[in-house]
Amino acid sequence: MNYDVLIIGAGPGGIFSAYELILRNPGLKIGVLEAGHALHKRRCPINGTTVKSCIGCKSCSIMSGFGGAGAFSDGKYNITNDFGGTLYEYIGKARALELMKYVDEINMAFGGAGTKLYSTAGTQFKKLCIQNDLHLLDASVRHLGTDINYVVLENLYNHLKDKVEFFFDTPVKAICPVDGGYRVETEKESFTCTDCIVSVGRSGSKWMEQVCRELDIPTKSNRVDIGVRVELPAVVFSHLTDELYESKIVYRTKKYEDKVRTFCMNPKGAVVNENTNGIITVNGHSYEDPARQTENTNFALLVAKHFSEPFKDSNGYGESIARLSNMLGGGVIVQRFGDLIRGRRSNADRMRDSFLTPTLNATPGDLSLVLPKRILDGIIEMIYALDKVAPGTANDDTLLYGVEVKFYNMEVAVNERLQTRYDGLYIIGDGSGITHSLSHASASGVHVARAIAGN
Ligand SMILES: Cc1cc2nc3c(=O)[nH]c(=O)nc-3n(C[C@H](O)[C@H](O)[C@H](O)COP(=O)(O)OP(=O)(O)OC[C@H]3O[C@@H](n4cnc5c(N)ncnc54)[C@H](O)[C@@H]3O)c2cc1C
Repeated sequence: MNYDVLIIGAGPGGIFSAYELILRNPGLKIGVLEAGHALHKRRCPINGTTVKSCIGCKSCSIMSGFGGAGAFSDGKYNITNDFGGTLYEYIGKARALELMKYVDEINMAFGGAGTKLYSTAGTQFKKLCIQNDLHLLDASVRHLGTDINYVVLENLYNHLKDKVEFFFDTPVKAICPVDGGYRVETEKESFTCTDCIVSVGRSGSKWMEQVCRELDIPTKSNRVDIGVRVELPAVVFSHLTDELYESKIVYRTKKYEDKVRTFCMNPKGAVVNENTNGIITVNGHSYEDPARQTENTNFALLVAKHFSEPFKDSNGYGESIARLSNMLGGGVIVQRFGDLIRGRRSNADRMRDSFLTPTLNATPGDLSLVLPKRILDGIIEMIYALDKVAPGTANDDTLLYGVEVKFYNMEVAVNERLQTRYDGLYIIGDGSGITHSLSHASASGVHVARAIAGN
C-alpha cells in the first residue's frame, strides 16, 4: 500500500483526522486528497464591483479547498449536542462533548486564543423567549470569526504540511476495495491505502451517494432545511448577540405546527452567496475584527422538511426550490419584509428608499413566487414572534434573502467507530449525514483517528 491512511477531503473532518492521527502515531504515512485549492489559492471572484454575483467556478472557493466549507465561515464552533449533528447517537453524549471541547483547545493553541466563548447558561433570555412561545437552545459557542478562523487554518496547515502529503485540485473519482485495503482513483493517478477516511462534506454529497451505491453501503434519506436569510440593523438583536453571540431559537407555528428555527446568526456580518453543485443559495458570516464589521446582523430562518414515501428525495425538493429562485432572480432574490406582507415584489426603487443597506447584491423580487406557502407562512409567523423579543424584526425594511437551503447528505450506515460495513472504510463529517457543523465534523475526525490509531 502507498499509504497507511488516505483522507478524502480537507475540511474540518479531514484536517482533524490528520492532526490526531499524526499526534497518536507519528509513524503513519498519510495522504490527503482534496478536490479544491490550497488555502492561499482559495479566492471567491465576487468583489462587489466587476464581479457582483456567483459566476459558477469549477471549484467553488467558498465550499472547497483546505479548510472545506468552513474556511470562510464565521468560525462559530457550537459546543453542544442540541444541534449541529447527531454524532452523539453513535459515540455517546459525553464523548461527543469531550471531543468538541478538545477541538476547541486545539483551535485555541493554533491561533484562536483570546476569542470569546459565549454561553446560554444562566441567561435571562431563556425566560423572555419562553414567555413569547420561543425556545432558546442550550449551547456554548466559540466565535473565531472569519479572520481568526483563517489564521487557525493557516497554522494547522503549516503544522501538518511536512507530516502529511497533501494533494490539492485532486477530486477523487472512485474508491475500490482491494486486498488489504483500498484503491483510491483520481483523474490522473491511483493511490492505495490500508485505511480510508471519507470526509467530503456537502459539496461531495452527490459523489458520496454514488460511492454508497457502488459499494452497496446502506443510506437513508435525510431532511432538507428551507428558508430565508434575514438581515436587519444590528441594534435590533444587539441585546441577544452581545450576550450570546448566536441564539438558536425554535418556534412551533400555530397554523401547521411546523418548527421554524434561527440558524447561523452573524452579528455585524455580511450575507454571502453559496454555490452547491451549481445552485446559488445564500449564507452569512461575520468578522471578529471590528474594522471589517457591518451595521447589520443576519441569520437564517429555516423550516425542516423530510420526505420518505413515495417521494424520498428531500434534497431534490430543496434543490428545485433553489433553482426556481435562481431562475426568477438569476441568483439570490431579496425582498423587503414590508413588500412581502403587502403582496408585492421589491424592486430597485423600493430598495433604494429603504433605510437598510443590504450587504449582498441580490435581485429584488418576490419570494412568495418561490417558497411554498406552508414554509413562507411559517417564516412570517416566526418573524412576528421574534419581533416580541427583538422589536424591529418585523419592520418593513427587514430584508429577506432567498432561498437559504441547508442540504443534508444521505445518512450513511456506520458503526460507533464511524466505520462502514467495509473494514477500514470510514465516513465522517457532513458527508456522512451525521454532522452538520464545524464542531461536530471536527470531533468526528478526532474520533475516527483515535479508532484507527487504536490509542
Ligand atoms: C458560508 C458558510 C458558513 C458556515 N458557517 C458555519 C459556522 O459558523 N459554524 C458551523 O458550525 N458551521 C458552519 N458552516 C458549515 C460548516 O462549514 C460545515 O459543517 C463543515 O465545514 C463540515 O466539515 P466537513 O469536513 O465535514 O466538510 P467540508 O468542510 O465541506 O469539507 C469537505 C471537503 O471535501 C472536498 N471534497 C468533496 N468531494 C471530494 C472528492 N470527490 N474528492 C476530494 N475532495 C472532495 C471538498 O472540496 C471540501 O473541501 C458554514 C458553511 C458555509 C458554506
